[in-house]
Formats: sequence, structure tokens, C-alpha cells
Amino acid sequence: MQKDDLIVIAGGGGFIGGALARYFKDRGFTNLRAVDIKPVDRWYQTIEGVDNVPNCDLRLRENCYRICEGRPAEVYNLAADMGGMGFIELNKAACMISVLINTHMLLAAKDAGTVERYFYSSSACAYNTRMQQDPDVTALKEEDAYPAMAEDGYGWEKLFSERMCRHFREDFGLETRVARFHNVYGPNGTWDGGREKAPAAISRKVIQAKDTGSGEIEIWGDGEQTRSFMYIDDCLNGIDRITHSEILEPINLGSAELVTINRLVDIVEQLAGVKLKRNYKLDAPKGVRGRNSDNTKIRQYLGWEPDLPRFKAMKRTYPWIEEQYFARKAGKVTVT
Ligand code: NAD
Repeated sequence: MQKDDLIVIAGGGGFIGGALARYFKDRGFTNLRAVDIKPVDRWYQTIEGVDNVPNCDLRLRENCYRICEGRPAEVYNLAADMGGMGFIELNKAACMISVLINTHMLLAAKDAGTVERYFYSSSACAYNTRMQQDPDVTALKEEDAYPAMAEDGYGWEKLFSERMCRHFREDFGLETRVARFHNVYGPNGTWDGGREKAPAAISRKVIQAKDTGSGEIEIWGDGEQTRSFMYIDDCLNGIDRITHSEILEPINLGSAELVTINRLVDIVEQLAGVKLKRNYKLDAPKGVRGRNSDNTKIRQYLGWEPDLPRFKAMKRTYPWIEEQYFARKAGKVTVT
């Protein structure tokens, strides 16, 4: 890669896409194009010097071709209609329609004729849900996606799109790389509105309880469901490493540090200096019972895995959400 080679980031107004644009900018890349369906005032980050393309619906083929003009060397597809459990359980069709984004982006990248790497962001939701019914879940290995029984809606879209990436590589020689992200979080991410993930939702609820003096927090499920959460910097580092590796099959990109939701609440309470009464909402969307990332393969290939400990990561995330919460309360416009 030359520093002035064109890099296209689909979903650049989102959490990970925006952070990726900053990551490349900080590393001296000068020809970045970030594209998103949202108007620019709803982007998490707009980075100076980046060719920002807002209001661009990448479900449409012509838009994908337009943003792949100018001889891109690398294309990163992070655009998808997605959210936390609350969103994906209730919006399955919307999640599946994202298949159009990856399909048209693959076609546009192939036809551009200059793309050396195409990265696709898949998800742990592509894994067989039957293997995730116990909170003491055995960490998911890459081969556990088959036989397929992905998360309904969102997970099937990911699994199908993964396969499409593979066939574009095999049939057309487009160098696709795919990572299965396990929950990602950090500053400049979704923290309210129903699409946020557990670390952000818990932080916001704790901040609100402290601010209002309610002394209570609502927790979805019994709090004993387990997950692993990866800090955004680890995610960006992993995207870069995987994209520029020879790892041809989808690979886990996640933390292997398993935590219950109750333990996560303990951590946030500790950061906030409060202790709250926990009200468990047992009929709320909970997703699978347990999920963790088996990192054997990524360690073997890269000699690396996401490793920022959760306490440190929460310590960096919590103050940012607190800042957003009080900015909004003061009447400022914030992106949620
Ligand atoms: P995000 O919602 O912050 O970003 C996605 C962006 O895609 C949004 O800004 C959205 O406006 C944009 N988008 C949606 N539909 C579009 C369209 N039709 N045309 C153009 N842009 C469109 O989410 P994120 O957390 O940054 O996730 C990025 C990618 O990583 C997604 O593919 C997601 O499925 C995947 N992923 C994320 C996580 C996570 O924990 N954040 C976990 C697994 C997988």
C-alpha cells in the first residue's frame, strides 16, 4: 500500500467505520473515502481530510459503483442495519436486507479492477445458536458455524454474505477477508436508542440512576447470561492484521474474556461509585445464553489476539458515555 492509495470505508458514519477512518488517517493514509446512509450530523466521527459521502444508500448498486470510482486499493464494508439484541430480534427483515449492501459492494469492488483487499465485517451471530444455550458455553471455534443455525435474521445475513465473499475470491480472484466480530464497544459508539450493546446500555443506565437518584437499574434477563466484549482499539488492530494476512476463511475477532452481565454491572457500579438495586426483566430480548470467542486460530495465524482487559476498557468508555449523557441533558445535540 502507498500512503495515497484510495481506501473506501462503507459504513464510515458508524461506530467501527468511523474509528477505522481515524485509524488509517492516524497512520498517514491520505486518500480515504467514508460513506454512509446517514446525514453527516449523525456520524459518530467526521475526520478532517477524509472524503465523507453522506446520504448514500449502499443497498443500491449504482451507489456502490459510484463510491468505488477512482481506483480503490482497499474496500472495507462495515455498513449494515444492525444493533443490539433489542434491535436485531425485532427487525429481522431489515437486518437481512443488508445482504444487498455486501452484494453490490462486492460487485463494485470486483469491477473496479484495482481492489487488492476487500474486508467484510461478519459477526458471532453467524454461529449455530444451538451451541450457545449454556452460560458456561465452550468458546466458539470457527468451524462451529456449521451445520448452520445462525441467529435468525441478522446472523443468516452474515453467514450468507461470508459465503459470497468466499466465492468472489474463488471465482473472480477478489482478495476478500472476513472477521467475525464478537461484541465491540468503546467511545464514539451507540449508547442509547435501542441499538446499543450491553456495556454501553449498562453504563447509560447506571449514569441515569446516579443522576436521577433512582437507586435502581433494569437488567435484561437474569443477568447470568455470558458474553465477551472487545474494545474498539483491539478491533481496529485486528481488522488491519486480518485484512493484510493470508487468512482466507472467516476468523473470530473478539475478546476471550468471558463475563456475565451481572459482573459487568458490578464493574460499571464501581466506576460510578454507586450500588444499585437490580430489577431483572425476564421477558426482555436476551439473545443466546452464553457466547465466547475461541482465539486459538487467530493466535496461531497472527501471534496476537484482542487483549485489553475489560476493566481498563470500561474505564475508557464510561466517561465518554457520561459526557454524552450530560451534554444531551444540557440541550446539546449528541449522536446516540
Ligand atoms: P453502526 O450501526 O455504528 O455502523 C453501521 C453503519 O452502517 C451505520 O452508520 C449505518 O448508518 C450504516 N448503514 C446502514 N445501512 C446502510 C446503507 N443502506 N447504506 C449505507 N450505510 C448504511 O455499527 P458498528 O458497530 O459500527 O458495526 C459495523 C459492522 O460490524 C456491521 O456490519 C456490524 O454488523 C458488524 N458487527 C458489529 C458488532 C459490534 O459489536 N459493534 C458485532 C458484530 C458485528
